[in-house]
Amino acid sequence: MKYVSTRGQSPAQSFTEILLGGLAPDGGLYLPETYPRFSREDLAAMAAMDYRQLAFAILSRLVDDMPGADLRALVDKTYTAQVYSHGRPDSDFSQITPLRKLEDGLFILELSNGPTLAFKDMAMQLLGNLFEYALDKAGQDINILGATSGDTGSAAEYAMRGKHNVRVFMLSPAQGMTPFQQAQMYSLQDPNIFNIAVRGVFDDCQDIVKNVSNDLEFKAKYRIGAVNSINWGRIAAQVIYYFKAYFAVAGSGGGEVSFCVPSGNFGNVCAGHIARMMGLPIRKLVVATNENDVLDEFFRSGVYRPRTAAQTLHTSSPSMDISKASNFERFIADLVGRDSAKVAALWKQVDGGAGFDLKAEGLMDRVKEFGFESGSSSHADRVATIRMAWEKYRTMIDTHTADGLKVGLAHREPGVPMICLETALPAKFEETIREALNLRPERPAGLEDLESLPRRVETMDPDTAAIQAYIARHADD
Ligand SMILES: *Cc1c(COP(=O)(O)O)cnc(C)c1O
Repeated sequence: MKYVSTRGQSPAQSFTEILLGGLAPDGGLYLPETYPRFSREDLAAMAAMDYRQLAFAILSRLVDDMPGADLRALVDKTYTAQVYSHGRPDSDFSQITPLRKLEDGLFILELSNGPTLAFKDMAMQLLGNLFEYALDKAGQDINILGATSGDTGSAAEYAMRGKHNVRVFMLSPAQGMTPFQQAQMYSLQDPNIFNIAVRGVFDDCQDIVKNVSNDLEFKAKYRIGAVNSINWGRIAAQVIYYFKAYFAVAGSGGGEVSFCVPSGNFGNVCAGHIARMMGLPIRKLVVATNENDVLDEFFRSGVYRPRTAAQTLHTSSPSMDISKASNFERFIADLVGRDSAKVAALWKQVDGGAGFDLKAEGLMDRVKEFGFESGSSSHADRVATIRMAWEKYRTMIDTHTADGLKVGLAHREPGVPMICLETALPAKFEETIREALNLRPERPAGLEDLESLPRRVETMDPDTAAIQAYIARHADD
């Protein structure tokens, strides 16, 4: 099985060939040529597997060019109770992604027990090990350049810290992240991690990354790479926990379950879509947005109308303050039956600052066949849901998970379990928790004094040339 671009103009590649890159050369995103499918018998046999066994069973179908024993070793090294042990003290960390029952038919899937307390650790920790393996094999090194508004940057840094042949240059807005998020990143002392606080906002950081990526000479000379949310390895790793959660709820009986997923770049829920395409009996995939409701608008109306940075609101679920969902193209490619000319035409409109309307093309019935529904949530909803979860279920949830729970509750059906994905722990978003509950969320052991640790961060102007010079100075450290 090979990987092909959604836009059809790039040669097919193998898993490790696309691992270190980002977009396909034609501007599209990589997808498996065809999805491997698990039969009912396969699924019945997988029901009793632990996380590592499941991870191997799934990834070995998606990784076409690595010896099985090597893949198994990387999976076993990644998905340990020790790596994923930072969550609520009463969780069973041996499950890696423990399932929390709120009431009959309603569950929260804990995905935030990794080192940075957000679901991005689920994939990023594996990616760190895959990168190190692939670079060692190829005798290469890489300088990862990224921009973060909080969770992606810290997950990448904690996954890549101390890895040989990898350096991380992470741009973050000097103001805009929570104090916890800042401290989490800037306190890292590893010599291969470079924090750059940019005097500006997230979009300034993003623009610099784009400028550097467009400087092909610089990019080649300094071996610039990325770990952004379009990376296929991240999506592949996220498929695993849909299976794990499914079996935890449905066992080997083959019944259907629904998922509700807090969404921004459409990475997490895209993995759910792929799990479904691989044969997992998922009834509904409910996309939950905050006030930045581009995706909700699409699933309700068929109109995809990305907004500009200036039109993007700053909300109390900031990791979902996204108005152009970078992974959405993957789903649309499946929706149009992998008609790559069609995808290319649609994204020509998107890249030109417009959008598209699939209702007019009669494609919205197909969206339903893929199980998608959606809803959105506001700050007031978030606060009320955090309060409700605390009072009714004695479970403290973060603002993003609250968006998911609010929307998930509205889409429940009798007899179909609803699994809401937790995407971060409340400790990361203290301010809103205080507003909702008048309580300070509990912090995982060892993180009590995070803000007082010494920091390793360079503060710079949003000046691409200056940042390129900084990278050049440190790229061979
Ligand atoms: C990244 C993130 C999201 C959004 O996930 P996507 O894959 O971009 O849809 C939601 N919640 C939190 C806490 C995140 O860090």
